[in-house]
Amino acid sequence: MDLLRVGILNTFVIHTRKMHLLRNQAHVNGAWVKAKSNAMFPVLNPADDKVIAEVPDMDAADAKQAVDVAACAFQSWRQTTAKERSRILRRWFDLCEQNADKIAEIMTAESGKPLSESKAEITYGNSFLEWFADSARHINGEIIQSPWPNKQILLNRQPIGVVSVITPWNFPFAMITRKVGALLAAGCTCVIKPAEDTPLTALAAVDLAAQACVPNGVINVVTTSRKNAISVGKVLCEDPHIACISFTGSTQVGKLLYGQAAKGIKRVALELGGNAPFIVFPSADIEHAVDHAMLAKFRNSGQACVGVNRFLIHEGVYQEFVNCFKNRIQQKCILGPGMRKEVTNGPLINDAQVKKVTGLVDKAVSKGAKVLIGGKVDTQLGSKFYQPTLITDVQPEMEIFHEEIFGPVAVCYKIKSESEAVSLANDTRGGLSAYVFTKELGQAFRMSKNLEFGMVAINDGILSAAEPAFGGIKESGIGREGSLHGALEYTDIKYTLMSGLDK
Ligand code: ADP
Repeated sequence: MDLLRVGILNTFVIHTRKMHLLRNQAHVNGAWVKAKSNAMFPVLNPADDKVIAEVPDMDAADAKQAVDVAACAFQSWRQTTAKERSRILRRWFDLCEQNADKIAEIMTAESGKPLSESKAEITYGNSFLEWFADSARHINGEIIQSPWPNKQILLNRQPIGVVSVITPWNFPFAMITRKVGALLAAGCTCVIKPAEDTPLTALAAVDLAAQACVPNGVINVVTTSRKNAISVGKVLCEDPHIACISFTGSTQVGKLLYGQAAKGIKRVALELGGNAPFIVFPSADIEHAVDHAMLAKFRNSGQACVGVNRFLIHEGVYQEFVNCFKNRIQQKCILGPGMRKEVTNGPLINDAQVKKVTGLVDKAVSKGAKVLIGGKVDTQLGSKFYQPTLITDVQPEMEIFHEEIFGPVAVCYKIKSESEAVSLANDTRGGLSAYVFTKELGQAFRMSKNLEFGMVAINDGILSAAEPAFGGIKESGIGREGSLHGALEYTDIKYTLMSGLDK
């Protein structure tokens, strides 16, 4: 029945007969719309390069219209009570729960990640809707002790306005719910520009938001090809109606958007690339460290900003760790199309990503690094299936050590001391997440304090959840997502002086 909905083309029904919630139009003011120019662009399945659907290739004029709509909707949405917003968010959460398998199928088709990981992402992403449904009712102000006997000082948290939400392809559902859940809770409206590789998950999520009775114009989605991302991005940063730019993606694009936002003194929330170290000390439980190394490195085939970039292993346990890691990769990693049940690692998202990972590995090898497993594309599977790879004998000067790899390549380096670990780990402009494995309590606290990263996990390889504050320092970003802080990012503090109280 879903297939009969408006906006679903016969041409791709053939390939996607079972895909419910598949939308091929953008979403503006509660309606499914085309680009004004009627232009479309294809969304490809990275596993086989087949076209899943074509979606509108919108440009600056479409973006401007969506911003105007969001600005208009803001006037009424900001007047809703926190309780109303909480109820709507909760309904959206319930619908995403009920439709998790349908969204997961779309996500696997367009992102390539294994179906089990897509389902895990829906659970994770949806936890933000649940969390912000609750948090909406805890965005409170303050009454400050006044220095004057006849005056009161009130600080209220008010929604900042229309937010531009620009999201990446690696977590196409969670990056939307983490931002949109927070901004809706605060009373803001938005225009989402999803990544060109994965707009279909975004459209499915917003379809469910509409079914949850999010009012028209509160959430709008503008789909664009990479070509039009630049002009659309400019509108989404510079239009006077925009109050904040919330972006997750590369540091390079983050810097560009930050510059554009500066022209209008806009608020920014930037979650950018990382260069995560994974440090193992001699007291660590090595089996446990390897279990977590698998998660922190190979989830989503390494295409995660919190994914490990450098394994810094103490010389006392280096060989044991490397052997154990190698065995585990050989036993556990199954490369293939994400729709196949047994697959743990899917293709990389696109050719650019394949080229980048291949280039980093090949250069490291040409300078003396050793490949223990993997090291190339498995061409029998297709053009984007990069093998899970383990590399040793790397040097800190190598590009692979300081560039974000964003692929299934684990790079190991032998360290001699805690101070060497700290200085190598901190010798980067990235500062998102770091992982430390030790059983020494003092060392755990010292590492937490001395590592220049927004997030430090001790004896764990996964730290994301709705409850903690997620975010980086240095060139990894500005602001925090999740936790109550995530919603406060989308508020301004309004100071009201109540004077004349003695009159
Ligand atoms: P990646 O290199 O992993 O694709 P990007 O940072 O390039 O990461 O992309 C993240 C998001 O930023 C995507 O939605 C992409 O379309 C968008 N984007 C890329 N360039 C621009 C730009 N100049 N203005 C606005 N958005 C952009």
